Amino acid sequence: MAEPRVPIKWREAFFNIHGKPGHSQPSPLVTWKSLKHRRQSETGNYDFPSMYQEAEADPPLVDCATFAKPVEVRKSLAERGSGLFTTQNVSAGDLLLCEKALGYAWAEEQFACRSNRPGYLAFSDTKVGLVGGQARLLAQLIQKLRLNPEIQSLFQQLYCGEYKAVADLVVDGQSVVDTFHVAKVIALSGMGAPRSSRADFQVQQKNRKRGFSQPGYFSCGLWSLASHINHCCIANCRRSFIGDMLILRATRDLAEGDELFFNYYAGPNNGGLFSREAQRKLTRVWGYTCQCNFCTTRSQLPPAALWKRPLDLIRQITDLIYNHPSRAMQVNGSRVRSLLGEVQGLEELTKLRSYHIVYSVPNPESTNFHLGLASIHVWLKDSPEIVAINLLDGLRCLGFDITAYPPNPRGILTPAQFIVTSWGVATDIVLSVFSMLITVYKTLCSELLPAVRGYGRRVYSMMMGQEATAAYDFVDLSPEAQIETIHAALG
Ligand SMILES: [Zn+2]
Repeated sequence: MAEPRVPIKWREAFFNIHGKPGHSQPSPLVTWKSLKHRRQSETGNYDFPSMYQEAEADPPLVDCATFAKPVEVRKSLAERGSGLFTTQNVSAGDLLLCEKALGYAWAEEQFACRSNRPGYLAFSDTKVGLVGGQARLLAQLIQKLRLNPEIQSLFQQLYCGEYKAVADLVVDGQSVVDTFHVAKVIALSGMGAPRSSRADFQVQQKNRKRGFSQPGYFSCGLWSLASHINHCCIANCRRSFIGDMLILRATRDLAEGDELFFNYYAGPNNGGLFSREAQRKLTRVWGYTCQCNFCTTRSQLPPAALWKRPLDLIRQITDLIYNHPSRAMQVNGSRVRSLLGEVQGLEELTKLRSYHIVYSVPNPESTNFHLGLASIHVWLKDSPEIVAINLLDGLRCLGFDITAYPPNPRGILTPAQFIVTSWGVATDIVLSVFSMLITVYKTLCSELLPAVRGYGRRVYSMMMGQEATAAYDFVDLSPEAQIETIHAALG
């Protein structure tokens, strides 16, 4: 009998994973893995720190199963084909979906940037162009569909625009793959993804502080369930990533049967989140014009003039404080107060402050205005009460309904409380606001600190997908660090 060609130790390792031939008993490792996967898909309990460790490898593939109990695909009420709906009542921050990618192509940034290896594919028939990870994803998915014809029916349900996919996928008894269809699905439903949203968040913060713009993602994946989620500027859930796992959390309380929406163009900057440029891309790529309350209100009432002067003045003051040529030089506090007085005297202020109430839509520019004011008051070492008022007003402009005492209206004594009664749009800046609120409440009312921290952790989990690492990242920053964060986040 010939010697086995595979060295013994490799053969044993292989058997440990796949089980020995002829042995009906699975190996302990296989049993443990399948138990882990079953527990994940049934309970949604994941060991997130271990997932981060796995995602450090290249490619960042994470050995986890999909949890999807709180969601299902149904016909969209918005007449946009299918959509993803809740199957139960959920609270803001709850895990809705943790999905393993159907296909995932890793393309590290340096590699994808090299001009001699751009990774570009163009299909003139379907007017589809794929770059970087997308091009690799195509090859990977074609291979996967060819070897696993049973997933073809799942693939057929994914959105492919106007393209008419080939119906008969068996020719002469052999399964075939409609490569044009795969390319179209990737172009419309593939998602660019960072190695992890947590790492990406940290890079973004550094880039913003240095004034660098955020590059796009070169890695790309296809998550079949999440790809059914339709766009709305006013999202009710947020996606994040750990390697090839997509994590979806509710950003507000939802009832059973609610359709889920996220913003296809959610970005770090509040203003960019709702930009006209994003609208045009939405129409160009998906042939869809968003008609959410936010978009219709803005198209009827162009409000730019409302906030130009107040925001310009706020920018002027924060630049004076933070872009000063030398930190050693003292910025004149009375100059800052005099500019602040000018801001308070602007006639646009009342309309700017009440825009979100009058039109019942979030107004990210008003939020920026209030956060700018809050950071200036921190710098001036004004009372924590005035800082808290501006931070809370900033959240209210994004649609949050928060009952918070203190700050107390003059002459009114109310028992201490901090309750988020209704959640607004969870843009990236909301995390910075909660970070600042934690510091403010240390002085203002330490009794409320656990409540504020609890909400802060929930916001953190919406952004990163989990809150296990919140204790490391979501530390209480110094006032200076917080203002810098807000200043950088406002762009
Ligand atoms: Zn919209």
